[in-house]
Amino acid sequence: MIKHSLVIGAGVSGLSVALALLHRGHRVTVLDRGTVGGESSWAGGGILSPLLPWDYAEPVSALALRSMAAYADWVVGIEAVSGRDAEFWRCGMLALGVPDPEQALAWCSAHGMAAERGLSTRDSIWLSEVAQVRNPRLVAALRAAVVQLGGVIREHCPATGVLTQGGRVTAVQSAAETFPADTVVLATGAWSGLGLAGLAATPQIRPIRGQMLLFKLAPGVLDTILYRNGLYLIPRRDGHLLAGSTLEDAGFDKSTDDATRRRLHAEAAELLPALATMQPVQHWAGLRPGSPDNIPIIDRHPDFGNVFVNTGHYRYGVTLAPASAELLVDLMEGRTPVLDPAPYRWQAALERRWADGS
Ligand SMILES: Cc1cc2nc3c(=O)[nH]c(=O)nc-3n(C[C@H](O)[C@H](O)[C@H](O)COP(=O)(O)OP(=O)(O)OC[C@H]3O[C@@H](n4cnc5c(N)ncnc54)[C@H](O)[C@@H]3O)c2cc1C
Repeated sequence: MIKHSLVIGAGVSGLSVALALLHRGHRVTVLDRGTVGGESSWAGGGILSPLLPWDYAEPVSALALRSMAAYADWVVGIEAVSGRDAEFWRCGMLALGVPDPEQALAWCSAHGMAAERGLSTRDSIWLSEVAQVRNPRLVAALRAAVVQLGGVIREHCPATGVLTQGGRVTAVQSAAETFPADTVVLATGAWSGLGLAGLAATPQIRPIRGQMLLFKLAPGVLDTILYRNGLYLIPRRDGHLLAGSTLEDAGFDKSTDDATRRRLHAEAAELLPALATMQPVQHWAGLRPGSPDNIPIIDRHPDFGNVFVNTGHYRYGVTLAPASAELLVDLMEGRTPVLDPAPYRWQAALERRWADGS
């Protein structure tokens, strides 16, 4: 019997699960309270790697490395179905001011990640295989692929609660409509910590704001990602360049401020002096689905056997999308996943703490 899966949240986490489910023969409906990919998945930079890959907990690295290895083919598949270009570009990343380059190189070697000392300074590392996508284009391609494969997407349709029977969720409610479902996937990003009526909130998820600047240069001025001391520059092929980002614990407030714009601009100009005399063409903020240690929750919901969760990808949800979707759909279908699912369990998240102890 064909199963009807209802995915709540049409960011990259929800859309990638929807796509994987469609490929495995499910019927899929995706709900979003706003527009497709209109939140963090639009606002992000699209770097397809943790910024200093050696700095993260092993569960982040495991998911990231599996995703990174799969990404080029994953995008080709999406583009083939959708007819849209996600602007995947293996432009490499130069990390400057790396505190312990020897240890970083040893980590890369142990994890099969191409890395060498950069030519510019002794403390720089060149990661030639790091790639990027252009977020709005990836989201548009994912959306088109989901629709092309028969998925239904409903925008401006916030899920508010669930109907249950015998330990299962039978339907999801929005203000105007009730959506019956065999299985439900929660991919509600920064809002996952709020829960729905009748459904416990995902533990330890909180919105973490990131502000970003966009510049427009001539194409080719910069052709690789640059990173130093928390700041990155991401060139797009057409000359657009992103500079980011901040990590702000400011609730659901997506506003930007002038002081941050000036600071990001000054730091960006230190990395690329051509930016000093230019004004940003855009300045925005997005809300990351923050989680302690950047470790997402990819698991069955503890209260209902047919509800699943794919959220809390914090700084790396675009990077982690293919492997997260693969893991979740394996769990949904009762297959043995390639990666050990233990670190991404709901229960494991209950035991993690934020740096402030909460
Ligand atoms: C400034 C910035 C830079 C970033 N840079 C990178 C990067 O370079 N590389 C990288 O890998 N990651 C990056 N990220 C992180 C990445 O963007 C996120 O981890 C990822 O987009 C999370 O995707 P998501 O689908 O889980 O969340 P979202 O994209 O936020 O999607 C969640 C969706 O759920 C919907 N929703 C919420 N509640 C409900 C409800 N009740 N009913 C229906 N719909 C609901 C929302 O409307 C939203 O569309 C960055 C993020 C920011 C903000």
